[in-house]
Amino acid sequence: MAEKTITLIPGDGIGPEIVAEAVRVLDAVADKYGHKFSYKKILMGGCSIDAYGVPLTDEAIATAKSSDAVLLGAVGGKVGNSRWYDVAPNLRPEAGLLKIRKSLGLFANVRPAYLYPELADACPLKQSHSGDSFDLVIMRELTGGLYFGERHTEVVNGLRTATDTLVYNEEEIRRIAVRAFEVAERRRKKVTSVDKANVLDSSRLWRAVVHEVAKDYPDVEEEDMLVDNCAMQLVHDPGQFDVILTENMFGDILSDEASMITGSIGMLPSASLCASKLGLYEPSHGSAPDIAGLGVANPLATILSAAMLLRYSFDMDAEADDVEEAVKKVLKDGIRTPDICREGDKKVSTSGMGDAVIAAL
Ligand code: NAD
Repeated sequence: MAEKTITLIPGDGIGPEIVAEAVRVLDAVADKYGHKFSYKKILMGGCSIDAYGVPLTDEAIATAKSSDAVLLGAVGGKVGNSRWYDVAPNLRPEAGLLKIRKSLGLFANVRPAYLYPELADACPLKQSHSGDSFDLVIMRELTGGLYFGERHTEVVNGLRTATDTLVYNEEEIRRIAVRAFEVAERRRKKVTSVDKANVLDSSRLWRAVVHEVAKDYPDVEEEDMLVDNCAMQLVHDPGQFDVILTENMFGDILSDEASMITGSIGMLPSASLCASKLGLYEPSHGSAPDIAGLGVANPLATILSAAMLLRYSFDMDAEADDVEEAVKKVLKDGIRTPDICREGDKKVSTSGMGDAVIAAL
């Protein structure tokens, strides 16, 4: 029996619809296991701009910080076709995302890529490469590297010249490596650390620190892989991977590649972790303004994000397994929202999918 507080950020577009289903699933888990979850809702994104003129208020951040975990739907409207975008970039809906990630010190992004055998048709790989299923997570460093280094453009010898810098210190590498080994310990116990150590100094430091951390986890196998090879291996034989650990830009690219090979964006959860147990959990897709309010959005990525929340913020592995198994059962039973529905399947609405997962729990 545990008592936990969860900050909910429904956000914009389909966000409120999918978060509502995840909350129903969390409540069903609480009922089944005798836990008590209470919720605090905050505004972020376009809805916060409408209410307060900014995408995220300091009060909302304080609420998130004071809770045990944060569950987010998605933010943003139709880009280029919404009043929310006629303003400076730091006042647009997505600026709320950057602000909350920074305020909570979220340095590790965890994105699972899991191929459900029932959705294998949607996988763009030949079956000889994908196998019947694969199950990997990409652990991406979120707050350092090329995206945060010093940059400038100047004229050098009459030529416009741009410079970006890629900086990592050993502490930034160590803290995410520790997280990656912890995640691997709860999975199939293998970490593939991805770098470009044949060229980059930052990668050579990355590799050295990962090797130091690996010594503390003798039961986890560690291997190093160059990023160009990893990009190829992901489409050649994704089944070889368990946890892929990598820096910010490599992770940005590889995690999108990994999402693509699962074939269905509506199924992919994610977690962003910090040094404490507090984490932010959200689907990998956006706010899908094209289908908002129609009751057709697929809530499974958000429900699976709630499962990650149970696992990583609350250490409730059995409860998380239960939710993931319920999702697998629902898919096995042919229950589908329109985005993943094929002939012969049973088509359900957003709340119909929530009902089905709860029934399977
Ligand atoms: P998107 O992921 O919202 O939508 C892409 C396509 O996938 C659309 O056709 C949409 O209908 C479909 N789709 C997405 N999620 C779905 C679901 N759960 N069920 C069924 N179909 C789904 O990407 P986009 O159209 O590029 O962006 C829309 C808005 O979302 C933009 O404002 C963008 O900035 C924002 N966005 C927010 C986040 C976030 O909050 N983390 C992430 C990405 C994009």
